[in-house]
Amino acid sequence: MRPPSVDALARSLADTGLPHPLLVDAARKAIADANTDAAGIEERARRYALAAQRAMLGPVINATGVLLHTNLGRAPLASNAEAAYTNLELNLTLGKRGSRHAHVGTLLARLCDAEEAIVVNNCAGAVLLVLAALASGRGVAVSRGELVEIGGGFRVPEVMTQSGAHLVEVGTTNRTRLSDFAGVLQQPNANVVLALKVHQSNYRIVGFTEHVVVSEMASLDVPVVADIGSGLVDAACGWLDGGPPLWLAGEPAAKQSLAEGAALVTFSGDKLFGGPQAGIIAGRASLVRQCANHPLARALRPGSLVLSALQQVALAYLNRNGQAIHFWRMASLGPQDLEPRARAIAAHASVPPKLVVPTEMASVPGGGTLPGVEIPSYGLVLEGDHATRLRAHTPPVIVTVRDGHTWLDLRTVAPHEDDQLVQALRAAV
Ligand SMILES: *Cc1c(COP(=O)(O)O)cnc(C)c1O
Repeated sequence: MRPPSVDALARSLADTGLPHPLLVDAARKAIADANTDAAGIEERARRYALAAQRAMLGPVINATGVLLHTNLGRAPLASNAEAAYTNLELNLTLGKRGSRHAHVGTLLARLCDAEEAIVVNNCAGAVLLVLAALASGRGVAVSRGELVEIGGGFRVPEVMTQSGAHLVEVGTTNRTRLSDFAGVLQQPNANVVLALKVHQSNYRIVGFTEHVVVSEMASLDVPVVADIGSGLVDAACGWLDGGPPLWLAGEPAAKQSLAEGAALVTFSGDKLFGGPQAGIIAGRASLVRQCANHPLARALRPGSLVLSALQQVALAYLNRNGQAIHFWRMASLGPQDLEPRARAIAAHASVPPKLVVPTEMASVPGGGTLPGVEIPSYGLVLEGDHATRLRAHTPPVIVTVRDGHTWLDLRTVAPHEDDQLVQALRAAV
């Protein structure tokens, strides 16, 4: 039998909804695979088309219980896709060109009690910009206990090199004192113009340790930059009815770091802040402006999509409405909120009752924040490893496999996704 034409084969896959050029690619690949009969070719072409579809960006159900899952885009985001122009760089009062930092920057500054704030693409970019704008060609003092590597290749010494600033290491890995900082400030050839405090986001040094807090560093003769990374805006958590949850204890916050004397704070938009990927620089107006006016700021600037999503989250904070921020809504659920859903899903999934068991479990904040912290949660344990089949579902369901069994934590599953979860379980088991 002659192989079908590329075009005919591509057309036979139209029901996948993929654009024709991608179907042509799938058809060509299938035909290029030798030794298959015509029917085999069709099946192969369909498999290639579906693989192309799988490779595209799309929604997934996060049943891992990891609130800020790096592979799943950290904080969950709502998107509203209505096309519209914005006043991104138009001052509506004056009718003249404005600044894209004016809108959200102002709200973020209000939130953190800072004089000014600007937004860049991510926190790595924020740190890079701060160092380049304030310390290029000069020294920046950092404790040896804070020469951090964050996942995805953010390493403080390397960012420092890229910025053109010189790293001046202070103290030792486990113990750094204020006098160590004061010592390097007195070395004229070190030319230290900035002290950087980096939050040990994803690790802890325990045992015989000593570190210098922001309020002590504030007594130094140079501005202190606190890279808090994780993006907790205010330790008081006024947006949550119950105040700060226990698991947040000890996490540095933007507002408090500034109040304790940091000249600038930098943090991510998509960690505990609960917004889109972004990096925020907030603090002393003169320093924020130096950052905004540096040429790198142009290369690191976000677009209106990010800024409008960030603005929405900032307004929710200002309205003290944590329920409107998906991350905080999920983070503040108790096991008692999740248990009835777990039982309902188990009842509807048509899986033999002994194979699916509603169970207490523990969620984690994730995203390289709060290492070791667990949040009591509730979900389902499914006998056996069903991760691959659940991931193959539409929408894909991402789970954890522990000791050969499948764990589904409902904290990170939105209630409106429960029905889809039931369908996925039915299909997978
Ligand atoms: C996460 C983190 C960063 C990097 O933030 P991104 O937004 O991922 O670029 C930098 N510094 C600290 C302390 C962090 O925790």
